[in-house]
Amino acid sequence: MIDGMERRMSRQFTYDVQPSRVVFGSGALSCLDEEAERLGIKRLLVITTPSQAGLGEHVSESLGGRSAMLYPEAVMHTPVPVTEAALEIVRAREIDGFVAIGGGSATGLSKALAYRTGLPQIVIPTTYAGSEVTPILGETKDGLKTTVSDRSILPGTVIYDVDLTLGLPLRMSAVSGLNAIAHAVEALYAKERNPIISLLAQEGIGALAGALRTIVKEPTDVTARTEALYGAWLCGVCLGAVGMSLHHKLCHTLGGSFDLPHAETHAVILPHAMAYNAPAVPEAAAQVATALGAETAAGGLIDLARGIGAPTSLRQLKMAEHDLPRAVEVALSKPYWNPRPIERGPLAAMLANAWAGHDPQEL
Ligand code: NAD
Repeated sequence: MIDGMERRMSRQFTYDVQPSRVVFGSGALSCLDEEAERLGIKRLLVITTPSQAGLGEHVSESLGGRSAMLYPEAVMHTPVPVTEAALEIVRAREIDGFVAIGGGSATGLSKALAYRTGLPQIVIPTTYAGSEVTPILGETKDGLKTTVSDRSILPGTVIYDVDLTLGLPLRMSAVSGLNAIAHAVEALYAKERNPIISLLAQEGIGALAGALRTIVKEPTDVTARTEALYGAWLCGVCLGAVGMSLHHKLCHTLGGSFDLPHAETHAVILPHAMAYNAPAVPEAAAQVATALGAETAAGGLIDLARGIGAPTSLRQLKMAEHDLPRAVEVALSKPYWNPRPIERGPLAAMLANAWAGHDPQEL
């Protein structure tokens, strides 16, 4: 049952959403030159990861003289030395704007460069990570991850072209989709939650969950891919608008301390974090369950993960069992807001469940 006080509390809010210009649809990539012109960019640096260099080259060629250079060196977690090497090129080639094509890694490098130079950027996402609509930049240096949030980090234009996502491998589609759903789940119980973001979150979860179930059977189904990208956008907006808690902090900790892959870690932890928080946030839990068409939020999330072939245990991600106590210590070392207090015993039990791949439990 939903507590009346919780419902009344959710009517007290501050609504602060980040501005972004979005061009969405099949073939939207063809607007790139026009969007660059709008932003006054004459000498673009085209950014991709090494594995998407071919796509970067194609886009670079299509831009003719407006592309000064392709830089296919983005890597996960935005290491500062990579950004510094790119900055040298920005200066030497008189770059006056960036276009990132790819997932959160390409977007991360573009954001890092825009933050340091003040130059405009266009982001063309090809995964469901959602970074393109957040003012957040996570960077790593000497093994440490730092995060800054600043409006100057937001891209001038985001181009969502579903055609670029048709070839996203199935496993990446599944884990990246769950990564996006995690943004919306935590937005529904965020301290700063507000009615608009909660609507976007429910719509985003429903759109992505439905689409992912189709994509595992028909990876190139344009309608499902379109719904997934639409859901990813909404979930990204949620991430950019309100604070995240247990789930995101834990994934951040596990990723940074044990070198676990970003989206996969989100996929594994999400049902367990939901089960941990559910007793403290019955309204949000009911909203997640409804959006998933499930009886319970955590049950719906684990069924979704299993149904789309996502990893469901930290063991599968090669985390060693003997690292679990250290993970608990690291997770407890930096306090942060969470709807339910973070307690050692339940946290350790939750991580042990997630490691083994057991059903999520309310602890
Ligand atoms: P990613 O960008 O590292 O992509 C994974 C791999 O898939 C890369 O090799 C990439 O080139 C490839 N790829 C991407 N799209 C493809 C496609 N359509 N077809 C084939 N291959 C494709 O992974 P990600 O999960 O998108 O991003 C993870 C990074 O983003 C992490 O560093 C994370 O911290 C960051 N992130 C930041 C925010 C934020 O708001 N700051 C939000 C989410 C994620």
